[in-house]
Amino acid sequence: GGTAETLSFEAEVSRLLHLMVHSVYSNKDIFLRELISNAADACERLRHLSVTDASLVADDPAFRIVLAADKEAGTLTVADNGIGMDHGELIANLGTIARSGTRAFLEGLEASDDRSALIGQFGVGFYASFMVADKVEVLSRRAGDDRAWSWTSDGLGTFTVEEAPLESAPARGTRVVLHLNEESRDYAEDGTIERIVREYSAHVPIPIVLASTGEEEGKGEERQLADGSALWRKPKSEVKPEELKDFYGHIGGHYDDPAITIHYRAEGRQEYSVLLFVPSSKPFDLFDPNRKGRVKLYVRRVFITDDAEILPPWLRFVRGVVDSDDLPLNLSREMLQNNPVLDAIRRGVTNRVISELEKCADKDAETYAKVWDAFGPVLKEGIYEDPERRDALFKLARFRTTKSGDGWRTLAEIVADLKENQTALYYALGDDLSTLKRSPHLEGYRARDVEVLLLADPVDAFWVRTALGYDGKPFQSVTQGVADLDKIALPEDDKPKEEAAEAGETASLVTALKDALGEAVSDVRASERLSESPVCLVAPDLGYDRQLEKLLAQQEG
Ligand code: ADP
Ligand code: MG
Repeated sequence: GGTAETLSFEAEVSRLLHLMVHSVYSNKDIFLRELISNAADACERLRHLSVTDASLVADDPAFRIVLAADKEAGTLTVADNGIGMDHGELIANLGTIARSGTRAFLEGLEASDDRSALIGQFGVGFYASFMVADKVEVLSRRAGDDRAWSWTSDGLGTFTVEEAPLESAPARGTRVVLHLNEESRDYAEDGTIERIVREYSAHVPIPIVLASTGEEEGKGEERQLADGSALWRKPKSEVKPEELKDFYGHIGGHYDDPAITIHYRAEGRQEYSVLLFVPSSKPFDLFDPNRKGRVKLYVRRVFITDDAEILPPWLRFVRGVVDSDDLPLNLSREMLQNNPVLDAIRRGVTNRVISELEKCADKDAETYAKVWDAFGPVLKEGIYEDPERRDALFKLARFRTTKSGDGWRTLAEIVADLKENQTALYYALGDDLSTLKRSPHLEGYRARDVEVLLLADPVDAFWVRTALGYDGKPFQSVTQGVADLDKIALPEDDKPKEEAAEAGETASLVTALKDALGEAVSDVRASERLSESPVCLVAPDLGYDRQLEKLLAQQEG
């Protein structure tokens, strides 16, 4: 060791840092929540490792986060006795963008006009420190290692890493020292720190302590700001709504309010505690191709993994915690995939989320409309991925139709309004609602007052083909075949009064069109599906819908 290396941030980090430093961003408080959340994660990761190697925590078994402000020096320190980072981890974790969510966030920013609002909605991690500091020092020693490292940066493009003398580093874990910039000196006040912790981090599952000025660990006076108890383990009656909201902020990294909170304890063959949230707005990484869920698995209060896929991918927007009494603490990868207890938990929790969504749909249409608006496209993935849940998802599904206006229609409502002789549920697929509404394919249906589902999400083309039908009625595209529309009566005064002579003229027009178009079409037919436009293109009865053909072509492209 001894020599300092100076390295450049990954280009995307530089972009993010630039935004941090220059954003006229109203709520800078959240930087502290990001640092506390990292400190808590580090403690929880070590607690998990210590299950199999108790020596890692033997000399200091009580996990905690210590905050210390020094008004004179203008610094704020966040220290933890968690897992710590070695040389390679410091460079990898604090020099690049670890989270795919952060990358998606940056892309969202570039596309958006209102940048500061966006930053306010999403957690952006460690780099948020540079909103309030013009220099950040990180001292870290990984649990079990005999060397410590320091990382220093002014956030302007490079950072420096060097070996740190053991006596200046924490015995285990990480200490982040913020040298507050001129406008941010207020964050060196105990009162400010206390307020922010109460507001954002009161239910982090590791105790948080405020050390009096100048002191960092242990020696001086200390005050506990948060007790680190596991909120999800408390009986429902003892938990206040504000506490749940606060915990949602910690667990979800979101800055909105949860639309639905699901808090219960399962008793019986498997015992576990559940605290889950359905957000009210879309995160940026909702359509991230890895489609991972964000439910954290705990075993008897010990964090195990957020990779246990407790909920299926089509419920990946749900955030929160499931804490099992029955699983072993040292769950291997293999056991995560192949464990009957975990499978029972997955089934039970998925059922509960679905029933809570149903309850919300029944009792609070306004909230449910928000949920559907944000996550409907994800829930619809379940219709073709999870045939077992199809009926439940059909109950939850909401649609725009030719009769919905700006509201939503359920399949049950649509079926209740079927016309006499209507044997199918008709749908039109397209890229957006307004184009769909103008489609000439809808004219014959409008003339007969037949309701058509307007499907404008990319996922629609997939489920609608595999769904078989609802309530015994198949789904049928308005662009496919001549359908059985002719069997449905037009209102009396609208009936075309076709004379024999006109029929003859139509037949010769069809022949002339067939000659002229030749190979370009497979057939030309006269139909009653149009009432205003003279002609439209349809797909063959058994072929792919035109929208699906387009999507498949794009994927191959
Ligand atoms: P995220 O926490 O979402 O991964 P951050 O930008 O907040 O993103 O942190 C990046 C990474 O740096 C973390 O994933 C973690 O590996 C590492 N890290 C940050 N703070 C600490 C800490 N106090 N102790 C150990 N590792 C940390
Ligand atoms: Mg973080």
